[in-house]
Amino acid sequence: MKLVRVKKGDKIFEGYLLPRYETEDKNYVTIKLKNGYNVGFKIDEIEIEEIGDVKIEKKYLSEKLEQKESLPKIMIVGTGGTISSKIDYETGAVKPAFTTEEILRNNPELMNIARIDTEVLFNILSENMKPIHWKKIARRVAEILNSGYYGVIIAHGTDTMHFTSAALSFMLKNLYKPVVLVGSQRSSDRPSTDAFLNLYSATIVATSDIAEVVVVMHSSSNDDSCYIHRGTRVRKMHTSRRDAFKSINSLPIGIVENGKIKTFIPYRKRKEGEEVYVDDELNENVFLLKIFPGIDKEIVAKIVEKFDGIVIEGTGLGHAPEDLLDVFKWGIEQGKIICMTSQTLYGRVNMNVYSTGRKLLSIGVIPLEDMLPEVAYVKLMYVLGKTKDYNKVRELMLKNIAGEISERTIYI
Ligand code: GLU
Repeated sequence: MKLVRVKKGDKIFEGYLLPRYETEDKNYVTIKLKNGYNVGFKIDEIEIEEIGDVKIEKKYLSEKLEQKESLPKIMIVGTGGTISSKIDYETGAVKPAFTTEEILRNNPELMNIARIDTEVLFNILSENMKPIHWKKIARRVAEILNSGYYGVIIAHGTDTMHFTSAALSFMLKNLYKPVVLVGSQRSSDRPSTDAFLNLYSATIVATSDIAEVVVVMHSSSNDDSCYIHRGTRVRKMHTSRRDAFKSINSLPIGIVENGKIKTFIPYRKRKEGEEVYVDDELNENVFLLKIFPGIDKEIVAKIVEKFDGIVIEGTGLGHAPEDLLDVFKWGIEQGKIICMTSQTLYGRVNMNVYSTGRKLLSIGVIPLEDMLPEVAYVKLMYVLGKTKDYNKVRELMLKNIAGEISERTIYI
């Protein structure tokens, strides 16, 4: 690799000239500075001079990448987000970068764990995802697993990763191999990136015996281990920290540390000779309603009128203001399903303690135990895709289908 000196105006930079990938803009060069930062320059704005040749890490060499045939084959499916992106030096924004070549050159350690294939299913920021994207992912994952891959990794934006993990947990039936969602909070060409460790740990999980939909992300802000979160128990709990994802009301399934998995709770095990199938009939006419002091009754009445199902994110043990009672009562009489979760997230709803809770229960609001509001929102779509019958919906909403409800809540 070439050591170069770049002169831009009166500033001088020295560093290694990074290889340009096919997808990159030919008018730019990227230099890795000695402090580890990558800087992009527009070619016609700089003078560049070669000042030496250096031995460089294998990952930057342009030799052909050799994958080991004997290792289990896994597929990384790109759907967007920071993990699938790198900085666009022209605009300073992040832009998509996702070829097997790029992934493996940036993460050569992966080739010691698995034989990696990659594909881009779509490339969107996860705040733009809709239920149709969950379905597309579920269908593609089933195809990939049934075609013989040992596991699947889904590279995903972190903002709504926990909605997708819940949706896949309900939609993928007879799952007998790992489905690992992974993201990153900082793009992979930043020195502080969490992408490498997350992807490395995700690859270890994808080749493990954990046959569930899981989210694998940093367990702390140290760059040394990742938690394996159950897809129906996880939530993004911080805007920017690398350990933003937490298991709520449950321990994580396990941790990946020093290349090894340690598990904490029982999980579904890998089984050979099975077929995954997709159960993705969703009724999308569901609303997630957050309660707050001063909430407008007329708006709530409009919501109740419009939607087939409403998940209330109530206050405390599962409450809503008394003046909404007749609106909810009317809705339930019209055949709408109204469920209760708590905006405290931690803990279990208990609507028997205060009179508001008891009144909500008496009109037929369904208390959803310790289920997370977002998970309940996805589950209600799934259940209403099967039936609108109150008793059947109630039974299914209170049945633990994919680890979303537990008998005893663990606080950590
Ligand atoms: N907001 C974007 C998303 O969720 C990028 C954030 C990220 O991937 O961490 O897709």
